[in-house]
Amino acid sequence: MNLIIKKNHNISQREISKNSMKVLYRLNKSGYEAYLVGGGVRDLLLGKKPKDFDIATNAKPNEIRKLFKNCRLIGRRFIIAHLIFKNEIIEVSTFRANNDTPANHKSYSSHIKKSNNGMLLCDNNFGKIEEDAYRRDLTINALYYSIKDSGIRDYIGGIKDIKLKIIRLIGNAETRYREDPVRMLRVIRFSVRLQMCIEKKTAEPINKLSKLLKNIPPARLFTESIKLFCFGYGYLSYMRLKKYSLIYILLPFLVNKFSKNNTIFLNNIIVYCFKKVDSPTSKKILRCPEFLFASLLWYPLTEKIQELSINKKLKYFKAYSISVNYILKKYSILLGIPKNILLNIEKIWNLQKEIETKQNCETKTIIQYNNFFRALELISLRSKTENKHELKKFYSFGIKKYFFFKKKLM
Ligand code: ATP
Ligand code: MG
Repeated sequence: MNLIIKKNHNISQREISKNSMKVLYRLNKSGYEAYLVGGGVRDLLLGKKPKDFDIATNAKPNEIRKLFKNCRLIGRRFIIAHLIFKNEIIEVSTFRANNDTPANHKSYSSHIKKSNNGMLLCDNNFGKIEEDAYRRDLTINALYYSIKDSGIRDYIGGIKDIKLKIIRLIGNAETRYREDPVRMLRVIRFSVRLQMCIEKKTAEPINKLSKLLKNIPPARLFTESIKLFCFGYGYLSYMRLKKYSLIYILLPFLVNKFSKNNTIFLNNIIVYCFKKVDSPTSKKILRCPEFLFASLLWYPLTEKIQELSINKKLKYFKAYSISVNYILKKYSILLGIPKNILLNIEKIWNLQKEIETKQNCETKTIIQYNNFFRALELISLRSKTENKHELKKFYSFGIKKYFFFKKKLM
């Protein structure tokens, strides 16, 4: 173990959230070991603001629950404690061992269950801090900061990889991806977000194993997609996911056969949409799954409408309403899109025609102005994608109305 003492690193306790400090302090005071770990330590070392703070301890879930009134134990694959504060949830996990650790293999096999293809189904084998370090995904995510001595404990070489800017999976890459295929998405996410290179052995198996992601519940994939696409790195994530064949699992409609026009339009709108969502000038209301999926699924929807209009000779509105139901149902199952988001996507789509025919822009649609704004931005993306000038005019007309009514409402 390499101990990096206070004067040799840049983490200051002022940068750690007050709630995390309280939790660490109480665990220590009650006689437990407790460390800040994961993204909190990694991002502070890199001079970035952490998204959240995770804590690792030798206290067992039940012991954590006894110490904190605001504790909820969650998880099926492994139990972790969520400590709920007013503006923050702190994840506290008990040290666990993994099979790559030189640890006690007998006790490991009695607690760890794997599926036939090597996926971890249950992993509640508690262990020591050294073992906990080895069961984590990346070397840079396995650094432990103690508030007792302000030192960082590095068991696997995470500090060196932070300095070299390398994303390196701990253990045998293929085994670790088989245990949990989501690790492939995490490798891509951190490599893009932290602008780091993926080590050769970590990168090599991804193309071959990308299909394993099909075994992951859609709801978990959806959460990962949002982290990849809605935090300012969507376009780069999309490109890197494509390079490693992972994108076809997250956006399965990319492998569908569409008409020549819709294929071109879909490819164009993907680029425009990610660039819009990523843009630092984009409002928060566009950095969300409703705008992203309303845009990405627009041409799959158009294709379905055209198919029904031509093959079944349905009138536009009939074909439209059947297609909306069909596409939303299909992709809510495949992508795990939650119901409230599906409802907003439908509203954004319905507003396309209303804005194009300048109907109704004044009353009920303006009232829920977030979706109205998203709908206008989708019109703008479509105008660029299809090179259609009249769509741009609808955008200009609508955006004036939007700001006029927004002012009135405020
Ligand atoms: P961020 O919170 O910024 O997205 P993070 O690295 O903190 O990044 P979390 O999902 O909060 O990510 O997880 C906390 C820590 O738990 C990780 O740093 C890593 O050590 C461990 N971890 C998370 N997911 C996995 C996984 N699938 N396999 C192994 N370890 C994991
Ligand atoms: Mg985290």
